[in-house]
Amino acid sequence: MGSSDRNGAIQLRGVTRRFGDVVAVRDLDLDVAEREFLVLLGPSGCGKSTALRMIAGLDLPDEGTIEIDGEDVTDVVARDRDVAMVFQSYALYPHMTVRRNIEFPLRNRKVPKAERDEAVAEASRILALDQLLDRRPAQLSGGQRQRVALARAIVRRPTVFLMDEPLSNLDAKLREQTRAELIDLQRRLETTVVYVTHDQVEAMTMGHRIAVMVDGVLQQVGPPGDVYDRPANVFVAGFIGNPPMNLLDARVASTGDGGGTSVEIEGERVEVGSRLAAAAARTSNGDLVVGIRPEHLRIDPSGPLAATVTVVESLGHERHVVAATSAGQSVIVRVGVEDPSPADGET
Ligand code: ATP
Repeated sequence: MGSSDRNGAIQLRGVTRRFGDVVAVRDLDLDVAEREFLVLLGPSGCGKSTALRMIAGLDLPDEGTIEIDGEDVTDVVARDRDVAMVFQSYALYPHMTVRRNIEFPLRNRKVPKAERDEAVAEASRILALDQLLDRRPAQLSGGQRQRVALARAIVRRPTVFLMDEPLSNLDAKLREQTRAELIDLQRRLETTVVYVTHDQVEAMTMGHRIAVMVDGVLQQVGPPGDVYDRPANVFVAGFIGNPPMNLLDARVASTGDGGGTSVEIEGERVEVGSRLAAAAARTSNGDLVVGIRPEHLRIDPSGPLAATVTVVESLGHERHVVAATSAGQSVIVRVGVEDPSPADGET
C-alpha cells in the first residue's frame, strides 16, 4: 500500500527497449515529479505504452535505469512496485460482481472487511458506481466497465498511477466527464500519474506537463502552454493543436541590421517578430519552415499571401477556412462565426 514516506517521484535514465530491429524506446531520460500528472503523448507506435510498461515493471529495459522514490527498481517485478495500472483493455473478472471486482486487490492482500467496504464505498462514490455494485461486468456498458477498472486501481492507493488510454472506450460526452473526474481524483489522492494517450486534447487538459514522443524518441517535455506556444521542433508543432499549425516553406529575405527581419513565402515578403527573427538568424542555408497557428492568421484582401479556398468547415462555434496557396501549400484559418467568411473557390 502507498505509505506516507513515499511520494511517487519517477526517474528514467538512458532507458532503451528493443524488439528485434525495432527500437521502441530510445535512450529515454525523463523525470516525473512527486504528485505530478504527466502525460506521455505521441502517435501510434511511438513507444509510449512500452515506456509506461517499463515504469510498471511489466517490461524491462535493455539499457538504462528506472528509479521510483529514489530506489532503483529497474529489475523489480511489477507486483513489488507500488504502482497501479489501468489499461485501455480492462480485464474484469466476469463471474464476480462489481463490488468483488473493485475489492479484489484488497482481498488479495487480506485487508479486513471493514476497511475494504470503506475503500469500495469511496471509490464507487467517486466514480458513480454506487448503484451498480451488485451487477456483473456483462450487465454494464463499456464506460461503466472502464470505471470499475479505475475503481479497482484506486482502492489500492498506490503512490504511482499508470494509465494507458483509459478513456478510449468511452463516448465523447462520458470521456469529457471522466477526464474532469480523473483530474479531480489525482488532486484528491495526491498520487503521481503517468498517463499515456495519443489524444492531444486529453494531454492539453489533463497534464501538468506533457512529454511528446515520436519513433521512440522524446521530443519535448513541458507544461501544455509551453509546448503549444514554443514547440521544440516541426513535429511537435504539427502534432499539437487542432486544427493543426500551418507549416509553410519559406526563405530568409533579410535579417535585422537596421531594418526588421523578413521572410519570403512563395515570393511574398512577410515581416516577422523577434522570436522568428532569432530562428531565422540560425538557419545555415536560408531555408525555413514558418509555423503559424490557424487562430493567428487573418483573412485580409490586402494581405501578403494569396490562397484559394478549398473548403469552409463550420463547427458551430467557429469556422475553419481551408485554402491552398498558389504553390499548393495548405493553409487553415480559424474564423469566428460572426466574422465574414469567404466562399469556396474564392481567393
Ligand atoms: P499505440 O498508441 O498504438 O499503442 P505506442 O506509442 O503505445 O502505440 P508501443 O506499443 O510502445 O507504441 O510500441 C512501440 C513500437 O514497439 C512499435 O513499433 C511496436 O510495434 C513495437 N512493439 C511493442 N511491443 C512489442 C512486442 N512485444 N514485440 C515486438 N514489437 C513490439
